[in-house]
Amino acid sequence: MKELKFINLMLISRRELMNDIIILNPVFKETIWGGERLKTQYNFDIPSCHTGENWCISAHHNGDCEIANGAFKGKKLSWLYENHRELFGNMTAPEFPILVKWIDANDDLSVQVHPDDQYAKEHEDSLGKSECWYVVDCDKETKMVMGHHAKTKDELVQAIEKDDYDSLLNVIHIAPGDFYWIPSGTLHAICAGSLIYEVQQSSDITYRVYDYHRKDANGNLRELHVQKSLDVVDVPYLPQQLNYQCTQQEDMQKVNYLDNHIFKVSKVNVDGKYQIENHEPMRLMTVLEGEGFCNQEKITKGMSFIITSEAQKIVFEGHLVMIETLLGGK
Ligand code: ZN
Repeated sequence: MKELKFINLMLISRRELMNDIIILNPVFKETIWGGERLKTQYNFDIPSCHTGENWCISAHHNGDCEIANGAFKGKKLSWLYENHRELFGNMTAPEFPILVKWIDANDDLSVQVHPDDQYAKEHEDSLGKSECWYVVDCDKETKMVMGHHAKTKDELVQAIEKDDYDSLLNVIHIAPGDFYWIPSGTLHAICAGSLIYEVQQSSDITYRVYDYHRKDANGNLRELHVQKSLDVVDVPYLPQQLNYQCTQQEDMQKVNYLDNHIFKVSKVNVDGKYQIENHEPMRLMTVLEGEGFCNQEKITKGMSFIITSEAQKIVFEGHLVMIETLLGGK
């Protein structure tokens, strides 16, 4: 009995010394369009019934996630990236490059566009913002704005001046499980009724084109950035075609949605045990459904964590549906 206890203690303390799995606490954002789905569907401890975003993997200064486990518990992710780059395969990016968030749109988000790296560097001293969305859930008949119908910049300017968004915007219907790639320069908007998991570059630069003439609690309109939007928006809009790659092994199914110069994003289903060698500088993980273990660390629905380059081997066990994001460009 004594021996068993001793072995147990040894296992716990060994786990606590390891930095292969970094679990993160979320940062919540209250917004005029937010809701309470993050609590009702994912049991997150949200600050109010207007919670629009959960930044679940972020080292951005506007929402820097705190580490929830291990030797660096209580430190921020930006601190870890700055001071322990060896855990990230000695990556050379000066800042942690990716930001992952959940978006609960109880109302329509503004119609917006993001700049590319070059424009953002020049005008905002920031990374640009390309993003992708996995539709976790949505109401029936939920829409999304993806691109526009203007053939020239003049046509676009005229439609904006005439407030003619009904004919300008390309509106599509979405369904749970859909995946979209939204490169910088794409006019877009998430609409009411959507619960979205978003992987984006670590940037908070948004140019609002149209906000439905909405006023905030103090009766003020939100600022628009029409000129900057016109500078960066792609005309004409070119729809993005994605080719999903599926792989299957015993106890594991994977759908690779996107593999480009910025990210590689996949959905991984584990039902049993799945083991791999790890050669990635980091893997950004979120559990969408189920529970289990990753290298003996308990993981549950809604949890986000980073598998660092310290993990030479990764063992998933349990029933898990996860989104995995790797750095692109390889
Ligand atoms: Zn956006």
